[in-house]
Amino acid sequence: MNDYEYDLITIGAGGGAYPAAFQLARTGQRVLMLDPKGVMSGNCLAEGCVPSKTIREGAELYRGIRTMPYFRAETPPDYRSMVAFKDSVQQLRYQQHDQELASLGDRIRLIDGIATLLDPHTVAFETKSEAKTVTAKYILLASGSDISMPPIKGIEHCVTSRDLFAVTPTVTELPARLAVIGGGYIGLEVATMWHALGVDVTVFEVADQLLPGMDPDFAELVAKGLAQGIGVELGAEVTEVDDRHRVKYSKLGKPSFFEADLVLLATGRHPVLPLGAEALGLLDERGRLIVGPGGTTREQSIFAAGDITGTQMLFHAATRESLAVARNILAGRTVDRVDPQTIPATIFTFPEAAWVGSTRADLINRGIETVEVAAPFDHEARTQILNEPYGEVRLFGDARSGRLLGAWVVGEEAGQLIGELATAIALGATIADVASIADQHPLAHEAISRAARTLV
Ligand code: ADP
Repeated sequence: MNDYEYDLITIGAGGGAYPAAFQLARTGQRVLMLDPKGVMSGNCLAEGCVPSKTIREGAELYRGIRTMPYFRAETPPDYRSMVAFKDSVQQLRYQQHDQELASLGDRIRLIDGIATLLDPHTVAFETKSEAKTVTAKYILLASGSDISMPPIKGIEHCVTSRDLFAVTPTVTELPARLAVIGGGYIGLEVATMWHALGVDVTVFEVADQLLPGMDPDFAELVAKGLAQGIGVELGAEVTEVDDRHRVKYSKLGKPSFFEADLVLLATGRHPVLPLGAEALGLLDERGRLIVGPGGTTREQSIFAAGDITGTQMLFHAATRESLAVARNILAGRTVDRVDPQTIPATIFTFPEAAWVGSTRADLINRGIETVEVAAPFDHEARTQILNEPYGEVRLFGDARSGRLLGAWVVGEEAGQLIGELATAIALGATIADVASIADQHPLAHEAISRAARTLV
């Protein structure tokens, strides 16, 4: 026994927090979650993955129907109804989370407070009605990330993903012309889903490739597969947006204007650190949280998981990291280290695109001798059935051991396929092992073993 009020306090109640909170509560520990939202699941459910994919899947169904030569679907779905359905999915999930929380009884509490770290075992929090200090044996930092706001003049005339995807969002109608500032995954996802619903879209990206920071060949494959009607301005730096949604940008030093009806700001997200993290010496000289592979920080009693770590800002990465923290707390030492090479990521654009582990550019940079095999989608039964032949599966392996090091998939069901490849990497499979998988016919997964069999 100890004198602390709780065994664990989590700062945040999203994907980085509640898996560990639940795990500890199930083993009889006393847990407190603090989150100003007062509900679980963080930004993913509030304004991120779940609502954006609800709209996206509607757009995908409509697009899929239009792709078939035998359907006539001239009118896009009513956007307000799509938003209403999105809201209902969010509400349903909130209800289910409430039930999950209630099922754990009084071992776990969620308070709608904003937390500040005072010392390695003490957290202060403020709610609308009270300010309190609480202590715990362990603290889990999981305060997630927020939308980045670059210094663009007139930025207040832009909308963000929050305006599109929060419950009862401010944007409930589609504009005729959308300008997207930022060609990263959020910008491109909205660009492609709204374009599929009939919006005239132009994307402005300051870098010289879409999906900056990602493997350039992968990004190019995605860019080539984008619908003809989507405008892309690369090397274009937006400097101003006015109240009539005119976008001022400079390209190759030349100033230009673009007229839109709505401007989406999608220039990225940054980690949110709770107050007190710096004073406790948890940050590096650039203000980033220092986190070890098991979620450890510079303080033995403080752990971190999720977007706050600034590495793979994905809900499933947060969940995995959170569970590792729970195991490490329960074991009293680091027994679970998350390997980022095993965590897949999907961009829900049209075409869909996904990757895991190390791909070409990264392997070349690291001087690793690799083998590379691919299967184009235009030879797959599944993609022919769906009339969506664009894309490929590409595997990257260690030339000497044959071990699978990474993969990308661009095209239909990429997000489904990458899961199998992430599992293969996690289990230490070689490309020969992948070649012996009996991928089901006629599913897109067949391209995985077909790619591997070109080598063996
Ligand atoms: P992750 O997946 O990394 O957990 P989420 O977005 O799912 O990220 O969850 C982070 C949560 O942390 C959000 O719900 C946010 O409201 C909450 N949060 C941010 N700052 C604080 C803070 N100082 N105290 C408590 N909760 C916070």
